[in-house]
Amino acid sequence: MSGFDCELFVIGGGSGGVRAARIAAGHGARVLLAEEFRLGGTCVIRGCVPKKLYVYASRFAHEFAESAGFGWNLQQPAFDWGKLVAAKEAEITRLEGLYAKGQSSAGVEVVKSRAVLENAETVRILDGDRRIKARHVLIATGGRPQSLDVPGFEHAITSNEVFDLDVLPRRIVIAGGGYIACEFAGIFAGLGSEVTLIHRGDNVLRGFDDDLRNAVRDAYRQRGINLILNDTIAAIEGGEPRMVRTQQGQMLTADQVLVAVGRVPNIEGLGLDAAGVRLNASGAIAVDANSRTSAANIFAVGDVTGRISLTPVAIREGHAVADSLFGKKPWQADHSFVPMAVFSTPELGTIGLSEAAARVSTRIVDIYKADFRPMKATLSGASDRVMMKLVVDGETDRVLGAHVAGEGAGEMVQLLALSLRLGATKADFDATMALHPSAAEEFMTMRTRFARFASTA
Ligand code: FAD
Repeated sequence: MSGFDCELFVIGGGSGGVRAARIAAGHGARVLLAEEFRLGGTCVIRGCVPKKLYVYASRFAHEFAESAGFGWNLQQPAFDWGKLVAAKEAEITRLEGLYAKGQSSAGVEVVKSRAVLENAETVRILDGDRRIKARHVLIATGGRPQSLDVPGFEHAITSNEVFDLDVLPRRIVIAGGGYIACEFAGIFAGLGSEVTLIHRGDNVLRGFDDDLRNAVRDAYRQRGINLILNDTIAAIEGGEPRMVRTQQGQMLTADQVLVAVGRVPNIEGLGLDAAGVRLNASGAIAVDANSRTSAANIFAVGDVTGRISLTPVAIREGHAVADSLFGKKPWQADHSFVPMAVFSTPELGTIGLSEAAARVSTRIVDIYKADFRPMKATLSGASDRVMMKLVVDGETDRVLGAHVAGEGAGEMVQLLALSLRLGATKADFDATMALHPSAAEEFMTMRTRFARFASTA
């Protein structure tokens, strides 16, 4: 290796980092990976995985209530927060172990320490103060919750702490209107907490299709979530309970205040300047399509690059870097047709263009829509709805976007992603046989155009 201690040094053992390290080592490269917290990163330890487990937990209350309409008679169900936290911890510890095993069996040397760049080719491992000469470096340090610049922020928690609270808060105020804030609002409401969601915009989930945004807004209000829009937290007073003053002068009482107002790249103190790694205008590491930074031997993948902050995207980006550098088969992660779910209740699934985006980029846009009561609700008496929508190019008939709000939305959209990627037209949807009875069949049976728009561009 002519003067280098390793071919690849990966900083950060999350979704992107572990994939890149394992694949590079599989190609025969000598790889070191430093992780300062827990292997698996945000997704496994305090993101997707524990979040989805808590979403499952939160949905049982509704299921119990619905079961009565199907003849079940349940005694008063009781929920034990401590048991959920312990079960979650056991599961993520199991996953963490699997990640460690995956790395070691691939031959990656994992270092449990913070690591920083001293220059483009030298990584300093802080624990034990080792210096490693690396031919290539991959920065995969992810992101962290953005703080709120208000007095008393120290009395609030973020998504880093929320999974491990000692007790389930009876009242919780959640600041934010993005997917993480909405998901936690749904979780805590389902578990029985009184939830206030406060967001500075005039609707939640900016950037999503308006019908999806409205579905969550309306369902949350109907579920009794106190949704405050066009307002923000102005100050938090500590103590039991916390007192929250809003900009518009409301006073809210809460046992916990969760701030989920966005995430920022993890770059502080990383030595980027010393290594010649530049940032883009939004403060993330600037990379090209090969995930190469402004320093020729340094790459960056995942949330730290601020492209699309999702686990499968970080994994693909890491995999592409490892194959391209060491596998003799260069390829680039494709950032088109990325499906996304919001595990709010109702759940959202979305792929491709929203109606609003299509109306800017496409000359003629046709909208097909279905809004119906799911079959399960007929016997249970629940007020649940399902909304499905196709955004179609009126000139080519190509389906540009598909959106679902309701049970199973994420699962549906994962498969729709394949159809859209393959260029499916509305006629292809129409020609595809329905699966009955299901909610998804509505996508194949939307015969009547709901609206047609000419471009606003
Ligand atoms: P991360 O997974 O964040 O890993 C970065 C790692 O680097 C961390 O382990 C960190 O400790 C370590 N690190 C940082 N600096 C250093 C350093 N100097 N030295 C050593 N180690 C360092 N995505 C989805 O696709 N679906 C979801 O449902 C979903 N839900 C989410 C829910 C929540 C609450 C959150 C917060 C995120 C969620 N995400 C979800 C996003 C997903 O977790 C991230 O997109 C993904 O983890 C990014 O991977 P990464 O490799 O870029 O970084």
